[in-house]
Amino acid sequence: MVKKTVRDVEIKGKKVLLRVDYNVPLSDKGEIEDDTRIRETIPTLQYLIDHGASIILMSHLGRPKGSPDPKFSLHQVAAQCLEPLLKRKLQFAADCSGNEAKQKAEALSPGEILMLENLRFHPEEEKNDPIFAKNLASLGDLMVNDAFGASHRAHASIAGIPKYIPAVAGFLLEKELNALSPLLLNPPRPYIALLGGAKVSDKLCVLKNLLLKVDAVLVGGGMAFTFLKAQGFAVGNSLVEETQIDAVKKLLETDGKKIKLPSDCLAASSLQSPEQTMNVTFSKDPGSMANLQGFDLGPASIQAFKNFIEETKPKTVFWNGPMGVFEVPEFSKGTFEIAKALGAAAKEGASVIVGGGDSVAAVHLLGLAKGMTHLSTGGGASLEFLEGKTLPGVAALVDAESSIPK
Ligand code: AMP
Repeated sequence: MVKKTVRDVEIKGKKVLLRVDYNVPLSDKGEIEDDTRIRETIPTLQYLIDHGASIILMSHLGRPKGSPDPKFSLHQVAAQCLEPLLKRKLQFAADCSGNEAKQKAEALSPGEILMLENLRFHPEEEKNDPIFAKNLASLGDLMVNDAFGASHRAHASIAGIPKYIPAVAGFLLEKELNALSPLLLNPPRPYIALLGGAKVSDKLCVLKNLLLKVDAVLVGGGMAFTFLKAQGFAVGNSLVEETQIDAVKKLLETDGKKIKLPSDCLAASSLQSPEQTMNVTFSKDPGSMANLQGFDLGPASIQAFKNFIEETKPKTVFWNGPMGVFEVPEFSKGTFEIAKALGAAAKEGASVIVGGGDSVAAVHLLGLAKGMTHLSTGGGASLEFLEGKTLPGVAALVDAESSIPK
């Protein structure tokens, strides 16, 4: 680690502002659908408790648009999930800013935890407002950042607070950086990446950067159709980003040998009629995909991608983005079969790193999570990291070499 971690600092008797990413998926009834992001912060919380700190927990949840919205209250996260996991009661401040938070933070004893209400109930959070950041910083002596999933955002609680008090990495942030950093260096080969999901525009930067490092990239999902159209194939009404065609053509000219595309798809006239699917082999005949949209890899592409993974015997794999509209059972096969192939590669000793909510969800659904090397808790953050960008939340941490005033 080039940055200091919670292990490197004296925390006994300190008030620690712990930034976590508890932006968890909620059902319509407000139940937490996946608590992975919460569970993953327990080692840091437990360490702080065991070492005599008092903890002020901060997070955002959902997109409340800068004002209080009970749907996105963190109270439910504390009560439903964190208290049972930690087997202790938490205190709660109904506003992250103001007197209640200040008084409750001041009154904390070592081992006690105060959770602040959703940071994004204040528009100043996303604007990285310095006064808002300074007020938050005044609640503690030290900040620990364990919010990898939010560390690509230069928000007040991520990049603002560290201007006023020292900030170090928590164990989850450290784990993420340790898992993802080798992907940008020279990891064991063969090294392959799989990219899917909806939009090329979201992934073009990461694709360009990964192409400098990997031996091959398998492209699936909606983003494959922009590549196919750039090559002159008929794609019907499938998802295509016209504005990206030129950029994709250039990539195909320079790195075409490394980019593997599907040769067929499972198509339907719309997502509303998934029972009437057709397997279409891509061709340049416009009639071949007339009135159809491709929603998943076809059987030939699934087999070709699986064969490629099996025959390449990769030592390093990065996967982000589903291979089709996997939320709809009829179009889930491509994503699930690829997840299984990667599970098998991991069993053979490959280091398999999965980033992005949907691909991670697919791995969980298949019960393959334990076999994978690393499942990132931050889709956007892991992509920006792999684009080669410095994440604002990481840049703000104290360098490993510097000293921290005790
Ligand atoms: P992303 O957030 O960019 O990784 O995109 C994930 C979304 O891409 C999922 O909700 C999928 O349903 C969607 N997706 C995957 N394949 C396709 C496709 N062929 N057409 C439309 N959407 C797709």
